[in-house]
Amino acid sequence: MGLISCLNMLNRTGANVALLDCLSPMWSDVAWNKTRHGQGHFPKTKIPKPQVLQGVPRQFSRYGLPFNAVKESLRSIYPVPDLVLLTCSMTYWYPGVLSMASLVKEIWPDMPVALGGVYATLCSRHARDLNAFDLVVQGPLEDPCNWERVWELLSAPAPSIPSDREEDFEQKEFFPAEFSVILGSRGCPFSCDYCASSCLYPRFKQRSFRKIWQEVSTQLENNISDFVFYDDALLLYPENWLLPLLERFSGMQNTIRLHAPNALHVRYLTPDICKMFFEAGLKTIRLGLESADFENRPDSKLTREEWDYGLRNLFDAGFCPEQIGAYILFGLPEQDPDNIANAIQFAHDCGVRPHLAYYSPIPGSKLFPKAVENSPYPIAEEPLFQNRAIWPCYPGGFSWEEHAKWQGLLKKA
Ligand code: SF4
Repeated sequence: MGLISCLNMLNRTGANVALLDCLSPMWSDVAWNKTRHGQGHFPKTKIPKPQVLQGVPRQFSRYGLPFNAVKESLRSIYPVPDLVLLTCSMTYWYPGVLSMASLVKEIWPDMPVALGGVYATLCSRHARDLNAFDLVVQGPLEDPCNWERVWELLSAPAPSIPSDREEDFEQKEFFPAEFSVILGSRGCPFSCDYCASSCLYPRFKQRSFRKIWQEVSTQLENNISDFVFYDDALLLYPENWLLPLLERFSGMQNTIRLHAPNALHVRYLTPDICKMFFEAGLKTIRLGLESADFENRPDSKLTREEWDYGLRNLFDAGFCPEQIGAYILFGLPEQDPDNIANAIQFAHDCGVRPHLAYYSPIPGSKLFPKAVENSPYPIAEEPLFQNRAIWPCYPGGFSWEEHAKWQGLLKKA
């Protein structure tokens, strides 16, 4: 979504833009895993493990389209672009963007390459030290300083930043997928210690209903029926855009499926909101339970009473247990494994499905220094060790035996 917003900004200043999405299931000549409502596994190719991860008993893979298909597609771009912008979400995915930068330079040796996104923002020094990018953009492109630097890279004077500063996530030209994403806000005011939302976007800002509806309408015209909410704090000030949107969806006779895979704030699940969600066609619900030890939570976003209130309202509105999942934090520094087991049992007892949210130590988050202290890996120096798949702060790290144990507890009725 960030990259699409950047492309739309550049497009509005008169630049011609194109997106090469290496995770797109829409390339007709590449077989893709089966998806349901736009959800499924990315294809992956096993590749050699980086030296530093040799001791981890997991395989290392490149996700997305086959390397050669991407290479051929890149080669065939005409006219040759003046600038390539890359993005990388998770900090520990940097080998992917590194290999893309070297592929770009192999095809067009003089092409300026700029890197932005989460990894570039949270690990800017590491990204610069790779010496693979001509520019590392820390923070959003709409930051005037970043905007200037991108145009400097093109040796062109920077045009004014588009005057309508509202982010533009119009996806139709870039993202002709089976599903669509709705992002009605950026940022989150909660500042949980384990989260980097406030480092990436320190404010909380909602977009206008008019703009959101304009984007959704375009997707509806393209016969998209699955919509996924990407907001970090979807339920805050719902009267501004969420409720009007749900009202529009509720008139569509169940032709729409909505999904909320990011944890919802349970305390804001009022009877009215739950009813409107149900009528609008919400099918996938994830709640931010995190822990069942409500007195000693790793955040302050939920009390036991609020949990009971929100859950009761969901059930009263007509949602069934299979639709509701509860995220439980796994592998926080110094976390007692019994705490995780209790939370899993608690979710089962409440009639909802527990999902483990594996902790990834994120540079810039308040908990990161404690994670550095507690992890056997040098996670501050090497982002590969920030990978949640290696359980960097769990005693003993990842093992298939422990994995099987936790999977067993998750399945237990
Ligand atoms: S974990 Fe969720 S509630 Fe907490 S700061 Fe991050 S986005 Fe906000």
